[in-house]
Amino acid sequence: MPFNKFQLADPLLANIKRLKYEIPTPIQTAAIPVVMQGRDVIGLAQTGTGKTAAFMLPILNKLMTGSRNLRALVVCPTREWADQIYANAQEYGRGTGIHATTIYGGVGLRPQVEALRRGVHLVVACPGRLLDHIEAKSAILNQVEYVVLDEADRMLDIGFLPDLQRILSYLPKQRTTLLFSATFSPEIKRLAGSY
Ligand code: AMP
Repeated sequence: MPFNKFQLADPLLANIKRLKYEIPTPIQTAAIPVVMQGRDVIGLAQTGTGKTAAFMLPILNKLMTGSRNLRALVVCPTREWADQIYANAQEYGRGTGIHATTIYGGVGLRPQVEALRRGVHLVVACPGRLLDHIEAKSAILNQVEYVVLDEADRMLDIGFLPDLQRILSYLPKQRTTLLFSATFSPEIKRLAGSY
C-alpha cells in the first residue's frame, strides 16, 4: 500500500516523497490507519523498523489543523533518542507550520521554558525533566490529544515507571495513547492495560 492511500495531507506526502520512502514498512502499514482513526495502539517494533513515522505522520496530520497548543507528547528514554525523534518530526513536518521542541535534562531549563512559552504543538521529552516543567507549570498537559510512550520497555528498565504514571495522570482522560516497545513483557502488558 503506497503512502498516498493513507489520506495524509499533501505536505506530509511531499515530505515522504522528498525522503524517498516508497513503500510503508509493516509497522507503518499496520499503525498509520489506526492512529488516523484516533484509536490507541500497542506497537511491537524495534528501532529501524520505521516506527517513528508510524506514529509521527498521523499525529502531524492531526496537528496541522487546530491551535498551537501542546497537543502531542512523545515520551522516550534518552536525550539521544529524543533528538532523533525531534529530527524526524522536523523532516516529516517540513512546510506544515507545526512547532515542536525537545525537553530533557542535562541542558539549560530556560531555552525549554521559552520554547514552551512561545507555543508548541508537539513536545518530545524524557520523563524527569518533563516532570520538572509540569511542576513549574511551564508545561501544561491539559490539551494533549496524543501521547506516545516510545521504547516503553527501555523506560521501564531504567525505572521510569513512577515518572510515567505521574506524567500520564496530568493528561486528559479523553486522548489517544500509543505505546511502542520492542518486547511485550508482563510489565509492558500491565502498563498498557492500565491505560
Ligand atoms: P525508525 O525505526 O523510525 O528509527 O526508522 C528507521 C529508518 O528507516 C530511518 O532512517 C527512517 O528514515 C527510515 N524509514 C522509515 N520509514 C521508511 C520507509 N517507509 N521507507 C524507507 N525508509 C524508511
